[in-house]
Amino acid sequence: MLLATQNAGKVAELQRILDGDVELVAIGEQYVPGPETGATFEENALAKALEGVRATGLPTVADDSGLAVDALNGMPGVLSARWAGRHGDDRGNVELLLAQLADVPDARRTAGFVCAAAYALPDGRTAVVRGEMRGTLTRVPRGSGGFGYDPLLVPDGLLTTAAELPPGEKDRISHRGKAFRLLSPLLLEALA
Ligand code: IMP
Repeated sequence: MLLATQNAGKVAELQRILDGDVELVAIGEQYVPGPETGATFEENALAKALEGVRATGLPTVADDSGLAVDALNGMPGVLSARWAGRHGDDRGNVELLLAQLADVPDARRTAGFVCAAAYALPDGRTAVVRGEMRGTLTRVPRGSGGFGYDPLLVPDGLLTTAAELPPGEKDRISHRGKAFRLLSPLLLEALA
């Protein structure tokens, strides 16, 4: 399977989550993905998977993910990666979000990571599923693991941020873990 992403954090997570089921071939630096123009995570995930098939002829999996903040009516949402203006500026994104939420009281600092995971096959078949990890946003970043907004989200039922969790533990409860564990059997069945 081709994994249609350039995000090293995602490659590492998905390799662990799908380990043993499928062998992933990550898209290298030479691949320039098109702009993410969809209004939903599902639309973007499917578009990335279809683009991977078109470009390589290989069965392709892709995801689109982000942080949906309740006090911001679901934003940054599909704009999570470029919230501070530049794609993948994790530190800028975290700082801007914290500033925007400065006056939001603790009880309303709820949010969730969302992941839509899709596959597209060369014969035209596709599927897309969704996983979520709900939690509460801190007022200062904590932890050095993970990527993106991980230092801000304390998943429900835990006291640590997602960036303070050992990688395997994040996979077990994460939006991406849930979405790809849903997608994996569908994909294996489709490929059988
Ligand atoms: P995508 O590559 O378009 O799916 O954008 C994903 C963006 O959402 C990332 O750049 C992060 O800002 C954020 N994001 C998605 N998943 C996670 C996660 O597991 N932890 C932290 N941030 C995430």
